[in-house]
Amino acid sequence: MRLVLVGPPGSGKGTQAERLVHRFDLTQVGTGAMFRDAIARRTELGKAVEPLIKQGLLVADPIVDEMVAELFRRPDRPDRFVMDGYPRTYSQAIAFDALLRLEYLSLNAVINLTIPDDEVVTRISGRRCCPACGTCFHVVARPPKVPGQCDKCGAALVLRDDDREETIRRRLGEFHKNTDALLDHYRRQHLVRDIDATDPPDTIFANILKALGCPDTEPAIGSQRVSA
Ligand code: AMP
Repeated sequence: MRLVLVGPPGSGKGTQAERLVHRFDLTQVGTGAMFRDAIARRTELGKAVEPLIKQGLLVADPIVDEMVAELFRRPDRPDRFVMDGYPRTYSQAIAFDALLRLEYLSLNAVINLTIPDDEVVTRISGRRCCPACGTCFHVVARPPKVPGQCDKCGAALVLRDDDREETIRRRLGEFHKNTDALLDHYRRQHLVRDIDATDPPDTIFANILKALGCPDTEPAIGSQRVSA
């Protein structure tokens, strides 16, 4: 299974990606997570992209394309994967098509999570993420067992700079500006499955499985996650 997840920030992309990873034993390729990891490690890439990410602006296509291409050129490249946050522009989709062709890989589907902007703002401002392991929670919808503390590694949860309302509105603007052409490109290939992301996470996941033509009764299997 090779999937691309498309959806605005706060549409539940991360949550659904995690579930798909477990259900189909996929590698999750999250470009946002890869950038945050590079920033935390103070790499050259991290230093270059940090100001953009803090302002809610997109990183330039060639930089993201190269980061993803580098991952797919590794001997242990992902073979079955869910792309979480890439491609995000038409130009990235063209670059990704070319990369997959070179690697003799093809996509099964593009899952398009749809949700109104105001709902996104409500959702994201309640999000709290772990700076150590990247897991995200929500003060109402997905609270951690101990308030303010990561369930997985115990670190103190934070409101990410790019989750502040002003930044969210800017990110939504960027998202809409780029996504129409991206989806048109994949619609022409009959790959897009539109999923209502205002539903509860279990319903969304069941609808994704249905759209992929898969029964939702099989047990979960192992998973892996990559970083830059
Ligand atoms: P995310 O966690 O996917 O919301 O990504 C966080 C931030 O990383 C975005 O707001 C962008 O600044 C940057 N980013 C992640 N993926 C991409 C991409 N495919 N193209 C450009 N910028 C990206």
